[in-house]
Amino acid sequence: MYPGSEIYGGLAGTWDYGPLGLTLKNNIKNSWWKKFVRDRDDMNGMDAAILMNAKVWEASGHIAGFSDPLVECKNCHKKFRADHISGGKTETGKLELPKECPECGKFGTWLPESKFNMMFKTNIGPVEDKSSISYLCPETAQGMFVNFKNIMDSFHPRLPFGLAQIGKAFRNEISPRDFLFRAREFEQMEIEYFTRESEWKKIFENFRAEILKWLSDIGLGKNSVHELEVPAEDRAHYSKKTVDFEYDFPFGRNELCGLAYRTDFDLKNHKLDYYDEETKERFIPHVIEPSFGLDRLVLALLAEAYNEDELGGETRIFLKLKPNVAPVKVAVFPLLKNKPELVEKAKEVWRIIQSATDGLVMFDDNGNIGKRYRRQDEIGTPYCVTIDFDTLEDDTVTVRDRDTGKQERVKVGELASLLKNSLK
Ligand code: ATP
Repeated sequence: MYPGSEIYGGLAGTWDYGPLGLTLKNNIKNSWWKKFVRDRDDMNGMDAAILMNAKVWEASGHIAGFSDPLVECKNCHKKFRADHISGGKTETGKLELPKECPECGKFGTWLPESKFNMMFKTNIGPVEDKSSISYLCPETAQGMFVNFKNIMDSFHPRLPFGLAQIGKAFRNEISPRDFLFRAREFEQMEIEYFTRESEWKKIFENFRAEILKWLSDIGLGKNSVHELEVPAEDRAHYSKKTVDFEYDFPFGRNELCGLAYRTDFDLKNHKLDYYDEETKERFIPHVIEPSFGLDRLVLALLAEAYNEDELGGETRIFLKLKPNVAPVKVAVFPLLKNKPELVEKAKEVWRIIQSATDGLVMFDDNGNIGKRYRRQDEIGTPYCVTIDFDTLEDDTVTVRDRDTGKQERVKVGELASLLKNSLK
């Protein structure tokens, strides 16, 4: 990952994904989509526009209330998110600010707290007036709510059912920080699951268990993920129950994803309802929302996978990513790049592995084998396959395991099934 617009000094709160970061992110997305959408018969995927009619955000309550508390120091004019620098709340529920400004150190310089709306505003078309105002979506959720009627009319799903979307979200964070953790442009993976009110608890608990299971499936250990039942005073006003899944990031424990019971708040706001053909009732479904930040998952996986150990008398860095998310699944090396017979055989082996593997298989003939192993270790490639002179004699190759550094000789004919099983 690189800072966005880096050669021009960057743009705070934006990050660009390079080839490996993008593949890691795509692997997380694919695993999520498979688990929560493709492998279920009660889910439909969709992809709504980033720019939406301002009326959507009026109805959803974002124009009036999607804001963070802002304070400014009148000495250095630095602006802070009040809840990020506050040490707690007063008896009356007001945020207690530190006595001195964290930037300039002056005492008693706070201007009165204000509310800062985090939506990015823009104008549609050539005329910049009130009627042309639009907002970049600050969440994917509303794109699903406003399409509820379209989905009902064209697919007629029966309750309970869910809509899922992976997409960009934009928030004008007062102080973006901690790398991918708090950005101004990021990606979300969200589900809006519609149900009858009487069923919400059962569905909530089911998602709660499924979320924990999936986090563990992609490699986030049970010891570093923690559930936090959000107390009523900290919950969004429409939510009757929220559980945050927090992760022990290197900079502290923080929200990774969330699960909220949003009641019938959203569909009611958009004046949408459901007609039950069997019972002939018309009512507003209730919603359970699992919401994941993709970039926070990337960051958590990198933190979780980072390892250092001693191998061959040297300290090495390796990423212990699970094979299902590792950007490169296997790397194939000819021992020497100036021996055409080795290179040719290595290309043949690369093709065999490539067609037997779902993910990326890298070909690398650059530098000595030790260096090539280290490079793959650093990007978390689970297996390296080396083609040497013995390969030309007996059709065996060396397969090296990232975590142990152990090598074994395997027949080329057995490689495909061996790697297929090991990479599951
Ligand atoms: P926070 O309290 O950390 O600002 P939030 O509670 O406002 O987050 P939600 O509105 O619940 O976040 O958004 C759902 C998910 O989107 C979060 O769990 C998080 O993973 C992700 N997310 C939210 N804001 C950001 C951001 N600025 N940068 C990266 N990911 C984010």
